[in-house]
Parts: sequence; C-alpha cells; structure tokens
Amino acid sequence: MGNLIKSIMSKKDFCEFCEIINNNKEILIFDENGIIAFHDIDKSSAVEHILICPQQHIQDISVLNVNDIPLLQKMHSVAQKILEKLRPESTYR
Ligand SMILES: [Zn+2]
Repeated sequence: MGNLIKSIMSKKDFCEFCEIINNNKEILIFDENGIIAFHDIDKSSAVEHILICPQQHIQDISVLNVNDIPLLQKMHSVAQKILEKLRPESTYR
C-alpha cells in the first residue's frame, strides 16, 4: 500500500476524541465513570466551550440506541455538575 493511501486511510479512521483520551489527558477537566470533559481547543466558537464525551469511541449519533440512554443521562449530569462549578448562577444550555 502506498504511503499516500495509508495517510488518507489513517486520517479517515483518526478520532480526535480518542486521541485526547489516549494522548492528551492533561487537558481534561473531568474524568470519571467513563465520561470526560475538556475545553474546546478551537477558541473561535464561543467564549467558553466545554466538550463532554464518553470515553468509549462512538462513531456518530446514528449508532446510538435505547441502551445508550443511561450514558447520555450521565453526560448530561456531568454537564450540569461542571456548569454548577464554573457558573453557579447560570443554567445549562
Ligand atoms: Zn473515538
């Protein structure tokens, strides 16, 4: 296999979130019960943008099913916890 094809394939399979979980743990602001959170690296999107992700790799939202509801609930409660800590006067959006 040519190097160009190899690099295109690895780009397609590359997951930014798994990369952070595996190799950039120092940027995590939360890491508990299979959920992680970190500040968005792209500062242009919002004044403060925190991403909350499951530790397990999920390709996209279309692969989720009813069994993933507890995971989503856990992510939501982590979001509320972080927000309460950062901005006690604010509400979750
Ligand atoms: Zn991933």
